[in-house]
Amino acid sequence: MILENNAYTVQGVRLLDIAQEFGTPVYVYDADKIISQYHRLIKAFKGSKIKIKYAQKALNNINVLKLLREEGSGLDCVSIQEVLVGLKAGFKPADILFTPNCVSFEEISQAVDLGVMINIDNISTLEQFGHKYGNTVPVCIRINPHIMAGGNSHISVGHIDSKFGISFYQMRHVGRVVKSHNMQIVGLHMHTGSDILDAEVFLQGAELLFDAAQDFADLQFMDFGSGFKVAYKVGDVTTDIESIGQRIVKKFKDFCKNYGRELELWFEPGKFLVSEAGYFLVKTNVIKQTTSTVFVGVDSGQNHLIRPMMYDAYHHITNISNPSGTNRIYTVVGYICETDTFGWDRQLNEVREGDVLMFHNAGAYGFTMSSNYNSRLRPAEVLIHKGKAHLVRKREELDDLLRNQVEVF
Ligand SMILES: *Cc1c(COP(=O)(O)O)cnc(C)c1O
Repeated sequence: MILENNAYTVQGVRLLDIAQEFGTPVYVYDADKIISQYHRLIKAFKGSKIKIKYAQKALNNINVLKLLREEGSGLDCVSIQEVLVGLKAGFKPADILFTPNCVSFEEISQAVDLGVMINIDNISTLEQFGHKYGNTVPVCIRINPHIMAGGNSHISVGHIDSKFGISFYQMRHVGRVVKSHNMQIVGLHMHTGSDILDAEVFLQGAELLFDAAQDFADLQFMDFGSGFKVAYKVGDVTTDIESIGQRIVKKFKDFCKNYGRELELWFEPGKFLVSEAGYFLVKTNVIKQTTSTVFVGVDSGQNHLIRPMMYDAYHHITNISNPSGTNRIYTVVGYICETDTFGWDRQLNEVREGDVLMFHNAGAYGFTMSSNYNSRLRPAEVLIHKGKAHLVRKREELDDLLRNQVEVF
């Protein structure tokens, strides 16, 4: 996104024109940015057999999935529905990793039947899996390295109290189950949470996986999850992917030498690939001066972008209708009937009723976490690809709210 001739544009397309043509609220994605982030990651880990498994839950539009598949990406799925959508997007089963948590064994069996790689995150499932499949279906094991990481307790998933993965301290038990059923363990996985800033966190976790690896002779890959932090506001500390990348590659190569075989190095980022590529456009309905602040009330709410209220996340806001207006202080809120604040005390170019505001970093966990709360319709999605804006999801209609309701009176 750049400001040229007093207009914000993506690949030469004016964002204000998109609001005009497709209406608001609307999610807009920059395909070029997604692709360049993908290649930045591949490059950061050059020298290794790097494989990226895009975490679909961040942004699940099928066009985005196809775009990443074309670039060579695999897919990380957390539900059988994500697996099915991934297959529909053309991913080969072998390129899909299924990393569920607390799902039924039935769902896991279904994924096995579809031919995707299963990532097992508890010993109960591991036992059932061994009992049913023995050594006929290779699997990956999710290990919890008990590292406190991540910017927020909701997204920090590798610590001691976390429900995710099999504890590092239970590896002997895992070894017994694997041996009894003659299971074929081809991958070890860890995912310590989102917003990791410190290379040391990755490397500490990696060391634990390297230790654990000594007990498994059939490994083909190691998956270090995700958690690369991107900038949400000016001056934010972000993951220095280029330097972290080469440090990890070096450690990994040393490990592989010891292990006796070169393994694939997997990551499964969501946010890193799609967050900055997304913009969420809303229209100002009301300017409301109270005794304490000036509220800007927009035609959206936490039902469409829940991260500010749920994770206390900062999303930068720009008034794209008035780029050269005088800066003033506003509190930007939604139209939901409970407190839904997008941002307190934001300096925006003077906002007038009807102005279009843009939320930055809206690519990840924006649309995918939206709901129909207050019987509001979910927004449209637009993908800008090769300098052209494409509608990739229609705005919902009233029928969508009623479709599955059964009228009994
Ligand atoms: C959510 C999730 C990711 C993606 O996390 P980001 O912070 O969006 O990169 C990767 N792997 C697993 C298992 C996840 O649950």
